[in-house]
Amino acid sequence: MIEVEEAARIIASTVLELPTIHVPLEKSLGRVLRQVVVADADFPPFNRVMMDGIAIRHKDFERGIRDFQILGIQAAGASQKELKGQGSCLEVMTGSIAPAGADAVVPYEEIVIDGKNKIAAVRTDDVRPGKHIHDKGSDKKAGDLLVQAGKLIGAPEIAVAASVGLIALKVTGNPSIAIVSTGEELVDIHEQPQAHQIRRSNVYALAAELKRFGIESAHYHLDDDKKNLTQKLEGILYAHDVIITSGGVSRGKFDFLPEAFEDLGVKKSFHRVKQKPGKPFWFGTKAPGKVVFAFPGNPVSTFLCFHKYFVPWLRKTLGMDRTSHVRAVLGADFEIKTGLTYFLQVKTHINENGQIVAKPNTGKGSGDHANLLSGDAFLELPGNTRVFKRGDVFNLISFRNS
Ligand code: AMP
Ligand code: MG
Repeated sequence: MIEVEEAARIIASTVLELPTIHVPLEKSLGRVLRQVVVADADFPPFNRVMMDGIAIRHKDFERGIRDFQILGIQAAGASQKELKGQGSCLEVMTGSIAPAGADAVVPYEEIVIDGKNKIAAVRTDDVRPGKHIHDKGSDKKAGDLLVQAGKLIGAPEIAVAASVGLIALKVTGNPSIAIVSTGEELVDIHEQPQAHQIRRSNVYALAAELKRFGIESAHYHLDDDKKNLTQKLEGILYAHDVIITSGGVSRGKFDFLPEAFEDLGVKKSFHRVKQKPGKPFWFGTKAPGKVVFAFPGNPVSTFLCFHKYFVPWLRKTLGMDRTSHVRAVLGADFEIKTGLTYFLQVKTHINENGQIVAKPNTGKGSGDHANLLSGDAFLELPGNTRVFKRGDVFNLISFRNS
């Protein structure tokens, strides 16, 4: 049996090499960029009008001219017009190119227009060169590096890539992931369980979590028959890079997974971690590039192990920024009986000092997954202490917004 930190360290050392793929820009959200994004032109690409109003020569204003002759309209999307003659102006719209010769914009709010005589009377003293004009190249220059490779793609990255005309991006390809449930007592969700059966839920929970990473997983169910299970697992191992199983790793008479994996050449890295829930967790690898996370079947155990171990591993494998360690304040005194690291189910809120406070939301144990409905995180209470005080601070593993 190993410590939680040791288990996490071993898992972190097994990240996979993933391929580079092209995805359409619209499908790139949440992916990790494997190319640079460079400005194809200046940002903005022309002197851009920032307010609806009139464009003038500042020099005219300085000379004391307040009534400007309106020559016409410079609309957004129209090619550049020109100011002609002293005291002339053009009406301009936000997003239009500044007319040639104009170097200041006076918003409609600060002028009065005499439509009949086509005069715009300026009613402000605050007119300066460049006012309300977004200068060409003032944000970025053509050729500037805009986004580094390795960046997690969010809406700002998509907007910038769109601006430079990238219709597809090179990103990290997803690993192929199988989620496997085990247990003779489990039936699928469309079936009516008999008195001794339950519907399987773990596969659906984990598949939903993977979708948050944009990953579609393959799903399998294995009965607790060693020969049959080993045979099916062989095919699953062949077909996928990552296998997540639930159940079948405890000390029960029908918990065959560890043996089956070893028979199939998956090398055990560890079996059993000093933690509750999730103690029977088994982890192993098979060269080249196969990783097996065998979580115990109780739904809360599976769920906790997934968030504690699998999510950081996946983030690292995908090349996302490091998982940040969120800390939270224990919201009530709490005592544990075991000497194991205890992942306390909690419900969090932000207090008046802006700290995350985690209130115990214990439930009836690792089989009580309905209790997860009223919580949003686990608080990691170290096994070397038994009594935890309100106000003490611990690692938080959030499952609502990670
Ligand atoms: P095991 O780890 O196989 O001993 O299973 C522990 C408990 O978790 C048993 O009560 C199982 O019925 C339950 N369990 C195992 N897999 C699932 C699953 N996919 N969905 C819901 N419950 C499960
Ligand atoms: Mg079982």
